[in-house]
Amino acid sequence: MPGKVYLVGAGPGAADLITLRAAKLLAAADAVLYDALVTPETLALARRAKLIPVGKRAGLRSTAQQLINQRLIETAQTHSLVVRLKGGDPMLFGRAQEEIAALDAAGIAWEVVPGITAALGASAALGISLTRRGMARSVVFVTPRIGPEERDSEWLKAAIGSDTAVLYMAGDQAVEVCAALAAAGMPLARPAALVVSAATPDQQVFFTTLEGLPETMRHRHSGPALVLLGEVYADALAAATTMAAATVQSGATPAV
Ligand code: SAH
Repeated sequence: MPGKVYLVGAGPGAADLITLRAAKLLAAADAVLYDALVTPETLALARRAKLIPVGKRAGLRSTAQQLINQRLIETAQTHSLVVRLKGGDPMLFGRAQEEIAALDAAGIAWEVVPGITAALGASAALGISLTRRGMARSVVFVTPRIGPEERDSEWLKAAIGSDTAVLYMAGDQAVEVCAALAAAGMPLARPAALVVSAATPDQQVFFTTLEGLPETMRHRHSGPALVLLGEVYADALAAATTMAAATVQSGATPAV
């Protein structure tokens, strides 16, 4: 009889930002298939499992996902408790649906265990509410990345129409993404936050504007990057700008 597959959210990075259910499953797992975004600290919770990396680097062809599906099915045929560990939450930009469909087709039981998505990990790190009262009553999670077989999902309209917009997977195309947002009507002065590797020891935080984003992007390290846009970041941007100006005046090198 094949095993059961748990599609588990690993959260944004820190091992203690996963659910108790996820921690219990990892401790009991026979095999763990994990993405590139999953940190070693979180993987260490799987003490007795066979660890199988299936990290797909962005830009690879869609067949990569089919190989992951295949690997998942093969693993479930030979192991009883299989964890498919995904960064953040499995149901947000995580290709969970393809894996669920493949498991269904192979007659393998599955269950989803949610995780803290990057937008929430980043907001906790910033200490700025996505829906700050009096400023923002709507928030949208979008990705400008369009897969080869996908339709344009009108992400621009969604990003413009929401008080706060969180952009996943926008790091590599920052120039194009910012130009597209500006052309669609987003003010160039719209405050923005850039959070890289949220909830990990390498975390970086920048405050800028839509106009300044492409330049700011050049100062980040290579970790996963999240862009957050909205008036809720205005106060933090003003404070960061004042601080940078004071630092320049004092002759020191500005931090951002
Ligand atoms: N399922 C994941 C998203 C996967 S898509 C989730 O719910 O968070 C990958 C994108 O997520 C990255 O390109 C980046 O935009 C974002 N991301 C994931 N982890 C992150 C982190 N620790 N810090 C900042 N952004 C992160």
